[in-house]
Order: sequence, then structure tokens, then C-alpha cells
Amino acid sequence: MKNSNPFLSIVVPCYNEEDVIDIFLNKIFSVLAYIDEDFEIVFVNDGSRDSTLSVLKEKSKEYGNVRVINLSRNFGKEAALTAGLDASKGEVVVPIDVDLQDPPELILDFIKKYKEGYDVVVGKRVDRTTDSTAKRISAEFFYKIHNKISDIEIPHNVGDYRLMSRRVVNELKKLPESQRFMKGLFAWLGFKTAVVEYKRDARIAGDSSFNGWKLWNFALDGITSFSTAPLRVWLYIGLGLAFISFVYGSWIILKTLLFGADTPGYASMITVVLFLGGIQLMGIGILGEYIGRIYVESKNRPIYIVEDEY
Ligand code: UDP
Ligand code: MG
Repeated sequence: MKNSNPFLSIVVPCYNEEDVIDIFLNKIFSVLAYIDEDFEIVFVNDGSRDSTLSVLKEKSKEYGNVRVINLSRNFGKEAALTAGLDASKGEVVVPIDVDLQDPPELILDFIKKYKEGYDVVVGKRVDRTTDSTAKRISAEFFYKIHNKISDIEIPHNVGDYRLMSRRVVNELKKLPESQRFMKGLFAWLGFKTAVVEYKRDARIAGDSSFNGWKLWNFALDGITSFSTAPLRVWLYIGLGLAFISFVYGSWIILKTLLFGADTPGYASMITVVLFLGGIQLMGIGILGEYIGRIYVESKNRPIYIVEDEY
């Protein structure tokens, strides 16, 4: 390998992917045979519990341009991706999943667009039939809500699979937050962006590690990272309820003055008390969510820890 930096860095987070790495590498090598530029492949082992690390170590011995960043434990995909981007040296960087759901052939199109002068080239999934219906519907719902209430717009069906120029990656590295919602961060950066459409395939082997609960939390992370609307909405709920209370209160006073006091009213009273209690708890819950995030950020812990590099 030359000692100058490569043209292209491929960044691949891996969590329990022992079955897939070999197929992935063969595929990548056969695709990248079409370009004249030199490249490196940066694998990030995100605390896998299977033999992923030893497979990766083998590969780095076999190929001079395969690097392995081994994290000290499982930090999650967003952190693993960050670790890989930080370690990458290429003039352009492409993060990709190891499961070949995103077709590597697209990298050739990405590079073409880059050479036309784009700093960012994103892959847009036009066909998600390989994802479950529930995942598709919830994804659609998420993009809608998120884009409605956030300052930045995340393009629909665009994942982490993309090309970024060195200067974009350098800007990305400057974002200090430890709770990293990569899709949002990517969109926040801006730059001249081209879109390449593709069809997302099914996983070649292994299982997705994102189940319903994890995705739900992921969506909450996305929204709370880029929007304060859930906090602000309480001002309006409060105003609305205060107004209704005022009108209702006036009515009760008027009624008492005109017709005298009557005792019944337990049902309406308990309903109002319970309703307000519920509303208040929800408000406090959302406050708590944001305070929790402030708490985590304020500890300023590193996003990931590298144990070794091969
Ligand atoms: N991944 C990771 N750390 C994790 C979970 C996943 O590095 O804690 C990697 C995984 O190895 C794969 C990519 O992130 O390369 C996407 O994961 P997966 O295919 O499970 O997600 P999906 O495609 O279902 O969104
Ligand atoms: Mg996948």
C-alpha cells in the first residue's frame, strides 16, 4: 500500500456478522476492480459476541488495504459508524452495512457524481419491499412526523449509505454530541447533494439487530435530537386548558349565583381531575426525556472507545 491517503474509504460497522464478512469482501473487491483509484476498507467491530473479530483480523492480514477498528464493547451502530468515519483517511468516504442490503455497485455511481462536483451523494431506496410492512409504515410515519416538527429535513428513505467528501467528513467530526442520530447529523451538515436511487435487497445472511423496541427508541432519539417542538407544545396545551377552565369556571359561578348551589357533580369533577393529572404527567415525562439527554451530554463521555486497531 502507498503511504499517501487512499482515494476512497469504505466504512463498515459490524456487529455479530461472522457469516457475512467473507461474502461482503468478495463483492466489494469485485466492484472496486472497476475503479482506478486506490481504496481502504475500514471495518469497525462493534463488540461482536461471535467470531467476527477473528475473521476481520484474518482479513486485515490477508489484504493490505483492510483495516479493523476494534471497539471495547458494543456501542451501537451510530457510534461504530462514527468510529469508522473518524478513522477513515480517504478523499471520499462511503459508509455501508456489511449485510449487502445496499448494493455496492452503487459506489461507482456515487464516485461519478462526486467527480461531477457534488460533496454528498446519497442513496435513496425506491423500493422497500424487502422490509416488513410494519417497518415500512413506521418508517414513513417517522419521516413525516420528524420533518414536520424539526428544523432540518431528513429526506425520505435515505439511510446511511452515501458518499461524503473529505471536507464533509471533517465538518461531521466537529459535531460534539454524544447521542448521535447519524441520519439527522448528515442532513444537518448540508452541502451540495446528489441523489442516486436504488432498490434495497434483503440481508444475505444473519439477522437484523434492530427490532421494534430498538427502532422506537431510535425514532425518539431522532426527534428529540433535532426538535424542541415536543417541549414547546405544552405551552399551547396549557393555554388551551386554561382557557377552557376559565370558561367552565365562569359558567359554574354564574350558575351558582343564579340557581344556588347543588351538590351533584362527582362524575364531572373526577373526570377533570384525572384528565389534568394525565396531561401533567405526560408533560413532565417529555421534560424528563430532554433533561435526560442534557444529563447524558453533560457528562461529556467519549462516543466510543477503541481497544485495538489492526
Ligand atoms: N451494527 C453495529 N452495531 C450494532 C448493531 C448493528 O455495528 O449494535 C451494524 C451491523 O453489523 C450492520 C449495520 O449496523 O452492518 C446494520 O445493521 P442491521 O442490518 O442489523 O440493521 P437494518 O439493516 O435491519 O436496519
Ligand atoms: Mg441490514
